[in-house]
Amino acid sequence: MAEAIKIDELDIEFKEEVLDKVPDGNFDLCLTCGTCTGGCPASEQFDMDPRKLIRMLNLGMDEQVKKSHWIWVCSMCARCLFACPMNVNIPKLIYNIRRAVPREKRPRGILGSCDQHIRTGSAMGAAKEDFEFTVLDVAEEIREEQEGFEDLEVTVDRVGANMVLNQNSREPVTEPEEMGPLWKILHKVGADWTYPSVMWAGENYCMFLADDEGWKYIIEEFALHVDNNLKSPLVVNTE
Ligand code: SF4
Ligand code: SF4
Repeated sequence: MAEAIKIDELDIEFKEEVLDKVPDGNFDLCLTCGTCTGGCPASEQFDMDPRKLIRMLNLGMDEQVKKSHWIWVCSMCARCLFACPMNVNIPKLIYNIRRAVPREKRPRGILGSCDQHIRTGSAMGAAKEDFEFTVLDVAEEIREEQEGFEDLEVTVDRVGANMVLNQNSREPVTEPEEMGPLWKILHKVGADWTYPSVMWAGENYCMFLADDEGWKYIIEEFALHVDNNLKSPLVVNTE
C-alpha cells in the first residue's frame, strides 16, 4: 500500500520560490481537472505527469519534485498550457525547476549537446566546413541521379536570399540523404533560400538545459549572421 503523505511535515518553500520568478504562472489556480495530463507526451513517464507535479508543489513535496527525472523529460511543447482552463504555465514552471539545479548537475547528455552547440554551431558537434561539404555533396548527387532535379540549388551563406533555413544537425551527421525531401519541396515551389554557416543547427539544447546564457548566445550569433552578413528578411526554424 502506498505511504500517506504527511502534509504537516512539509514546508511549501520551493513553490514560493518559483512563484517569485513566475508571478503570472497561476499555479494556485489549478483545479486538478487533468486536461494538461491528457495531452502531455511525457505523462506517466517516471510515474509523473503535469497535474501531479502541480499537486506535489502545492503540497510542498519539494525534494521529490527536484529529484524527479521527469522534469528533464518534458519537451517544453506547451500543449498543457494551451489546454489548461486556468492558464497554469507548466512549461515555465518546469523551466524554473531546471534552473534551480546547479548547471553541472543537469543531465549530461543535454549539457554536452548545449556545450557542443556553443562551441561548434551544432549540438552534434559538426564543424561548419563539414556541414557545408556534406550539404553540397548530397545536392550534387541528387542533381546527377534524380530526374527533374538537375537544377536543384542548395547553398550555404548565399547573400540576399529571401529565406534562411536552419537544419537539425542529426541529419547531415547521421542521415544526410534525409535532407533531400525538403530541398525538393523548396525547389518545386521556387523558394529562394540558403543555409547559414554560423549556428546553422536548428535544435537548441541550451533551452532544454535551462541555460539562459547559452540559449541567448546561440540565437544572437545566428541572428547577427543573418542580419549583418546574409541580409535575408526571413528565417525559418525547422525545429
Ligand atoms: S489543466 Fe490546468 S487546471 Fe487542469 S489539472 Fe492541469 S494545470 Fe490544473
Ligand atoms: S510542456 Fe511538458 S508538461 Fe506540458 S504538455 Fe509538453 S511535455 Fe507535457
